[in-house]
Amino acid sequence: MASRPSSADRVVELAELVRKYKDAYYNGQPLVSDAAYDELEEELRALDPANAILQSVGAPVAVTEWEKARHAIPMGSLNKAVNEAEFRQWAARCDQLGAESSLAPISSDLLVTEKLDGLSLAVNYEKGKLVEAITRGDGHVGERITPNARRMKGVPARLPEPLTVSIRGEIILKLSDMKIGFPGTDAPPRNRAAGTSKRYDGAGCEHLSVKFYDLEGGDTELTTEKQKYERLVELGLDVPPFAVTDLDGALRIHAEYATKKRAELDYEIDGLVVRANDLRAQELLGELGDRPRAAVAYKFPSLAKISRVVAINWETGPTGRVTPIANVEPVEIGGAVVQFVSLHNVSNVERLGIGVGHEVLVSRRNDVIPYLEEVVVKHGPSTTIPTECATCGAALGRRGEYLVCTNRECRAIVEGRLRRWVGTQDILEWGDKLIAQLVEAKLVREPADLYRLKVEDIAGLERRGALIAKKVLDNLKAKLPLSLPVFLASLGMDDFALETAKLLVGNGYDTLEKVQAATAEEIAALKGMGAIKARSVVAGLAARAEEIQRLLDAGVVPVAPSAGGVLSGKSFCFTGALPRPRKEYEALVEEHGGTVLSGVTKDLTYLVMSDPGSASTKAEKARKYGVQCIDAAGFMALIDAPSTAGAPLTDAAG
Ligand SMILES: [Zn+2]
Repeated sequence: MASRPSSADRVVELAELVRKYKDAYYNGQPLVSDAAYDELEEELRALDPANAILQSVGAPVAVTEWEKARHAIPMGSLNKAVNEAEFRQWAARCDQLGAESSLAPISSDLLVTEKLDGLSLAVNYEKGKLVEAITRGDGHVGERITPNARRMKGVPARLPEPLTVSIRGEIILKLSDMKIGFPGTDAPPRNRAAGTSKRYDGAGCEHLSVKFYDLEGGDTELTTEKQKYERLVELGLDVPPFAVTDLDGALRIHAEYATKKRAELDYEIDGLVVRANDLRAQELLGELGDRPRAAVAYKFPSLAKISRVVAINWETGPTGRVTPIANVEPVEIGGAVVQFVSLHNVSNVERLGIGVGHEVLVSRRNDVIPYLEEVVVKHGPSTTIPTECATCGAALGRRGEYLVCTNRECRAIVEGRLRRWVGTQDILEWGDKLIAQLVEAKLVREPADLYRLKVEDIAGLERRGALIAKKVLDNLKAKLPLSLPVFLASLGMDDFALETAKLLVGNGYDTLEKVQAATAEEIAALKGMGAIKARSVVAGLAARAEEIQRLLDAGVVPVAPSAGGVLSGKSFCFTGALPRPRKEYEALVEEHGGTVLSGVTKDLTYLVMSDPGSASTKAEKARKYGVQCIDAAGFMALIDAPSTAGAPLTDAAG
């Protein structure tokens, strides 16, 4: 394990990093995420609170092809509070300063809004016409990216009134837009927005959005922060949600966001901005080093922390794919200790340039799975890419982004496949140990062998007995016959999980023969599949054809769930409040051979809702597509009375 440097060395190192990353950030080309930067700055602050680099703001704008432009009114930055104590401290200081100017307590009249995790932008209008858009830059001088800003959502070329005004907002990349505009990306949206907004060709700017939160100039006399927001809304501009409240209210809102709301947003925020609502109070309290005293960024607890790579292990999985896993010094993130982080595949390892001893930013972003955001500091070389399987020693090949073990006898593959087989079917009493024992004893090497096992085979193994042996074999056979999707998913082929199998079967490939006969082109044409996955599915089925035949020979014959099912070929989407839990309805659909879709599409047959006459967006969309809207009773009637409900279905589907 690499030892940490002494604290004096660390201060020098941190100061250098903070300076470098700060410059890059203010030049619009961040090298690391905000979270990584914040962590480094916090560490430096703890070791050396008086360090000069902590007092300085950003670097001047670097020379690029974008023209430099001076802000008529500087764009300041905000003081930070990282916990409740610091936030209360800020409020108390405001109240104290306010009292010196005979103001009412500032903390009882606060405007709270979201702190958008994007890039600040000033858009200047003359007589209602957009004339220029300037990035924040160092707060005084930024870059004039007017043509790019014009392409962004939420930036009108004209205001509804002939105002001369500077409006300030944040360029963000919504998560839904990221999926559409930059599919497959795993960079944080902020980094993607930063890069895109500065592109000289402007490509991709149409996927960016701007939300506004400030205006300078204009004609109206405004006395509160709230009026500013209302004025922005009046001008047809998009603003983040805002509320006027007191100190306790702000704390409550912060807690709501931190625990729930933040995760539900379609864009990333890293805290709340809290300001004195009274503009006169803002002015009287003034600024300290470009930061207004009457405002604070009240950050959320970090879901990302810096750790250090201790080792990188390459684990061979059931399909032969080798997954690199970083073992990091344990860090607590959001209540859980993270020690192992998947690095997904060899391409990702090469892209990151990661190595043992490197400092890395580890997060638990939108879900609970740890994610390696980036390498923050490289100490030493990148890791060596292995050439041999860690389990069997065979030479590794490369398939797309993955390293693969090509040895079909590899224990990792053999045991992995058996584990996948029993795991997908949720068969009780079948642990990894039992599978390892069976493979070791050469009793089993593929799923078909499981069905030829006899009680005495298992009873003869160490620490097993006849009683257990009988139980595990009963459990195995109790799952037969397997439905076709479960059969296919249990095989554990690349890109062929249960959802994929269900999708195929739901689209008419409802027998094993049909699935095996499907071409990559046919599968790729199905919604939700795509060419890469389709090729993978076809290749997997071909490679496992003999193994599948041996399963059939052993009596494991899959049954099509839709065979005779009254909902065969029909799809359903359930929305809103229904008499029974949604899961129950969905189970009924699958039981009767239908498919469940999560949203309204052209392919949907039925939208099930409490009020089929409703004017909701979903219902309107369904009617536009010719999807039938029915209520829960109507759905139950389809199952109970197939003869009468059968006829109109065909019409609707066609
Ligand atoms: Zn191997």
